[in-house]
Amino acid sequence: MHVLRTLDDAVALRADLEAGPRRVVVIGAGFIGSEVAAACRARELPVTVVEALPVPLERVLGAEMGALVADLHRAHDVDLRLGVGVDGFVSSDEDGGDGGRVLGVRLGDGTTLDADVVVVGIGVIPNTEWLEGSGLTLGNGVVCDATTLAAPGVVAAGDVARWPNARFGGEPARIEHWDNAIEMAVAAARRLLAAEGAPGVPYEPVPWFWSDLYDRKIQLAGTSGPDDEVQVVHGDVAERRFVALYGRAGRLVGALGWNRPRHIIQWRQRLLAGMDYAAAVELARSEP
Ligand SMILES: Cc1cc2nc3c(=O)[nH]c(=O)nc-3n(C[C@H](O)[C@H](O)[C@H](O)COP(=O)(O)OP(=O)(O)OC[C@H]3O[C@@H](n4cnc5c(N)ncnc54)[C@H](O)[C@@H]3O)c2cc1C
Repeated sequence: MHVLRTLDDAVALRADLEAGPRRVVVIGAGFIGSEVAAACRARELPVTVVEALPVPLERVLGAEMGALVADLHRAHDVDLRLGVGVDGFVSSDEDGGDGGRVLGVRLGDGTTLDADVVVVGIGVIPNTEWLEGSGLTLGNGVVCDATTLAAPGVVAAGDVARWPNARFGGEPARIEHWDNAIEMAVAAARRLLAAEGAPGVPYEPVPWFWSDLYDRKIQLAGTSGPDDEVQVVHGDVAERRFVALYGRAGRLVGALGWNRPRHIIQWRQRLLAGMDYAAAVELARSEP
């Protein structure tokens, strides 16, 4: 059984995939699970993806865009099991000892899936145990103010930092993207260098990330959620090449691109400038 977090995890998984397993089961159809499924299909390995939600990535992209990810998997012959959780594993060591190898996955609906390789991609918990008792506020990460400050003289950056980004409503959140780890580290270093007692500059990025699934480059600038308004603007979902704009409380908050890198760079700039949602949709529709 594998998780995928470090280089060693990736090397171990690759070795098992290169051994030619009869079936791979991936638990979780988030971005990591989806990329593993795509990597398996690139090797022509049979793969089943199990996802507890009825639609993959529903909490991130919303139901409409998540359904397109489901279609993409199915188009590449992934056996997608949605709306069902995992109850446990079938082990070669039925006494439950540590030496057992996984042989299958037991689902909540009573089904058992045979598997030579199982990959678990169902989210992460920040490693903050070592900071308990330090005086920092912990709660799904290290809680910071709008300027990345966790306590006088202490800042946090990257996956572990939870802070309010006023650009998107100011609800404290963590962001697990490379780009944010780099940009926030710069902001945090500047915060430490600010004169003592200075208020500091709020860190208000437009986050950005991408995921390569099969032959599609999926990119998101800004943010997106299940309750946001979504409209497809450039391109066509049937061709899996389009841009969708996300709106919240009348403001443009995100741009999702499928094989539209040039547009996403442009929409990121517009998100930085700030735009009304209706005006953004109208502008997009007036462009080629
Ligand atoms: C499989 C996978 C695919 C990804 N793909 C993408 C992608 O396509 N695009 C994208 O934008 N992002 C992607 N990400 C997310 C991206 O990798 C992270 O957002 C980024 O690495 C965060 O950087 P970081 O420095 O905050 O944390 P990490 O990269 O997690 O680095 C933290 C380091 O601190 C070390 N550490 C932890 N506790 C301690 C301690 N007590 N003392 C000392 N050291 C400690 C850890 O061992 C680790 O090396 C992916 C992540 C994974 C796992």
